[in-house]
Amino acid sequence: MRNFLFKKRYFLVYTSFLIFYFLIIYGKIFLVFYKRNLPNAHIVIFESDDYGGPPINLELINEYEKKGYKLLPKEYKWLQNSYLTVTDLENLYKILEKHKDSRGRHPCFTANIIVSYKPDFEKIKKSNFNHYYYIPHTLNEPIVKKWREGIIRKVFYPQLHCREHFDCYKWLKDLKKGNKLILELFKKNLVSLPLVGMPSYRNVFVPKTLTDKKVWTCQVEAKVKDAVEIFYNLFGYYPSSIIAPYYGWDDISEAVWSKYNLKYIQGANYRWIGFNTNGKKIFKKHYLGERSKYGQIYLIRNCEFEPFKGNNYFYCFKQVKKAFLLGLPSIIYTHRGNYSSQGIDRNFPKKGLLELDKLLTSIEKNYPDVIYLTSPELGQLLEKSKKEVLPHYTFLKKLYLCFLQSIAAKPFNLFVKCLYSVMLSILVVWAILVFYN
Ligand SMILES: [Zn+2]
Repeated sequence: MRNFLFKKRYFLVYTSFLIFYFLIIYGKIFLVFYKRNLPNAHIVIFESDDYGGPPINLELINEYEKKGYKLLPKEYKWLQNSYLTVTDLENLYKILEKHKDSRGRHPCFTANIIVSYKPDFEKIKKSNFNHYYYIPHTLNEPIVKKWREGIIRKVFYPQLHCREHFDCYKWLKDLKKGNKLILELFKKNLVSLPLVGMPSYRNVFVPKTLTDKKVWTCQVEAKVKDAVEIFYNLFGYYPSSIIAPYYGWDDISEAVWSKYNLKYIQGANYRWIGFNTNGKKIFKKHYLGERSKYGQIYLIRNCEFEPFKGNNYFYCFKQVKKAFLLGLPSIIYTHRGNYSSQGIDRNFPKKGLLELDKLLTSIEKNYPDVIYLTSPELGQLLEKSKKEVLPHYTFLKKLYLCFLQSIAAKPFNLFVKCLYSVMLSILVVWAILVFYN
């Protein structure tokens, strides 16, 4: 022990380890190759989900709460995710138009759209629950006109989220089986409500159990084919990126997306790909710029801007700074609920917009060379740099990049800070012991 304590060799090993650790956290030198083919500037992207679909029925939620159903705590926030009115969108656009990047371009929300408005309950009933019918969004709706206006004003750029935000085939199965609660909700023109004990059909792009690969492929294909066509009818162009609901999708979904030219996959640094035999979710890690089996590029969100959770702009700005330190673009996710006047707290959007304004001001003040991009634009840049940015990844390299990505995805927690402080203190004491022995 004495030998170990006073040998400079061991001290040097420990010091190098600490320096390496420090570089991993703070050093962008490891990620220089990410930037090689990206503009030499700080890139910021806003990805915003859940535009479209039916508004949430607060009256029915109250009715069921009186019957004894409890609101899911997490979903309380989700409730505020009620749809955006034309006025809400106008307020959002105005804030975005107030700001400009180093090239004079406004920040632009990559807005991920649910392209169908709601299930066609009458037709579904007539089919005796054998077929799924839906009512798509159409050009006549004022909200769709407002989305299109956002494109012209260069502050809103629609991409694809899904056709409907639930697994319609599982829902049909339950209806057909005669599940009482589901049938009762059906009569009220509802699929489900965010209450404890209500069904949730989250498996949009992940099968609950993969019994028949062919059937599942057909189901995914039906969802994607229609969605892409409706999207084209609404906006006059095809989407090139997609974000799966609840960050869950399997390889079959990726294959289908690829067939419909969805080249860029938005998501977190992990995805949920299925279930193990115990029914637990299985996850897979990804890093920015990684390619899927079908050549699609993963775009990884690394900053959270969700004021409805009670976080202010600075919470997000810290993550923006960290992403830049790591040499990554800041990909900020922010749900529509932050800007909606139709949730439980009708005064909320004012706070959401105020914080957004502050966030943009901070970014522009601290990074005057900032560039605002949309997700497909970042995808294109990464795609062009196919060879240089993405050399041959070994397993270790992938592991390392996933690790970096996970650091970038979360703000440093107290644990890491404490650990680092303890390690530094040990080093100082050790240095004194070694050199004064
Ligand atoms: Zn969603």
